[in-house]
Amino acid sequence: MIKAIRGTRDLLPPDTALWNFVEAAARDVFHAYNFQEIRTPIFEETQLFARSVGEETDIVSKEMYTWEDRGRGQSEKGQSLTLRPENTAGVVRAYVEHKLWDRGLNKLYYIGPQFRRERPQKGRYRQFYQIGAETIGPSSAGSESPARDAEMLEMLATFLNRLGINDWTLELNSVGCPNDRAVYNEALRKALEPVVDKMCGDCQRRAVTNPVRVFDCKVPEDQPIIEKLPRISQFLDEGCRKHFQEVQEILKAVEVPFTLNERLVRGLDYYTRTAFEFTHGALGAQNAILGGGRYDGLSEALGGPSAPGIGFAIGEDRLVLALKESAEAVARKPDVYIAPFGPGMDREAAKIAHELRRHDVVAELGDESFRLKKSLETASKMNARFALIVAENEVKAGAFALKNMDTGEQVSVPRAELARKIQSSR
Ligand code: AMP
Repeated sequence: MIKAIRGTRDLLPPDTALWNFVEAAARDVFHAYNFQEIRTPIFEETQLFARSVGEETDIVSKEMYTWEDRGRGQSEKGQSLTLRPENTAGVVRAYVEHKLWDRGLNKLYYIGPQFRRERPQKGRYRQFYQIGAETIGPSSAGSESPARDAEMLEMLATFLNRLGINDWTLELNSVGCPNDRAVYNEALRKALEPVVDKMCGDCQRRAVTNPVRVFDCKVPEDQPIIEKLPRISQFLDEGCRKHFQEVQEILKAVEVPFTLNERLVRGLDYYTRTAFEFTHGALGAQNAILGGGRYDGLSEALGGPSAPGIGFAIGEDRLVLALKESAEAVARKPDVYIAPFGPGMDREAAKIAHELRRHDVVAELGDESFRLKKSLETASKMNARFALIVAENEVKAGAFALKNMDTGEQVSVPRAELARKIQSSR
């Protein structure tokens, strides 16, 4: 038997109703903040991720699905391609490629699968889904303003609350600008020098290549050392300090609670200034439902103009896990099971089903070969609210027997009134 690949899974009904519920809520909330949808390809040139996410990150150094495409001719070497491990790089590539600033498109959201070859466990998959958004644009459009950061964070709080997830924590930090980072990196390197040989292999590598990544370390023995390292807040310049302060002031004004977490450095190399994560207690170790931050230099790194930006990615798999709502509660059950009864009735039933569905009635259709008892049993098994009997007498009379499956009550309803009658009792 062929099975789904480890780390991937099938999303089945009724769970898919929950996924649709989450996605519909996201679209609704994001549209209210004037975000519009973008869909980028699920594979891109490998270079895109190496340059944006960063060579030294775990994602690029060990988690990407990368392959060499076939060349066009026999001698031609194929391009190196990669399944996208995240979507910000693709969005910023599209922003630069299509000069979206010319069209005033600076608020974009996406929903779709991402791929990382991580160790699968509860809440962590190799094909997982993210819902994300980016605010990006020239400084003249205000894209650098702390108001954009606060707007995005407030939108996320609104979205989570809308889903009934109220017990989230927003963790906030500022990782400064490249200048601050250079000074900070130097300070970290110095502080790490005397202690690094007591740390894990990953940290020893990070200490040389990209010291801030030491804060990603999850090895328990390394934590006391990491706790004592200098913090970025001591190295922020005046501009970054003010920016961060203003983000916090607006959040207070709109009553979005947050806590400061100075260890929060986030995955991308290009993150600048604001970095954030929303966590949720019920998810255990994999408790981050979403993360994001500012990336003021990313457009330039991808060959575009200066275009400060900020974005986030919500882990949809984890968000669905955290939902109190049950799939049954949001799944739409059939309103009516149409039971054709007797030869030639499939045709009549098909006509009625067509009429009802046009009026947004969820209709399931039986078969004229079924006995009435079987039809009613089927209707009850699929939790249809009504059964509608379509037999020769009914067709002649132009009125049909409509049985309420809850109460057992049966009434005769004229054809033209069927849709209204079925809908009115929803
Ligand atoms: P990142 O792109 O790493 O900042 O992740 C953003 C969010 O995506 C995280 O907070 C998680 O909720 C989710 N996420 C990241 N990796 C995975 C994964 N392998 N499986 C499921 N969700 C993930």
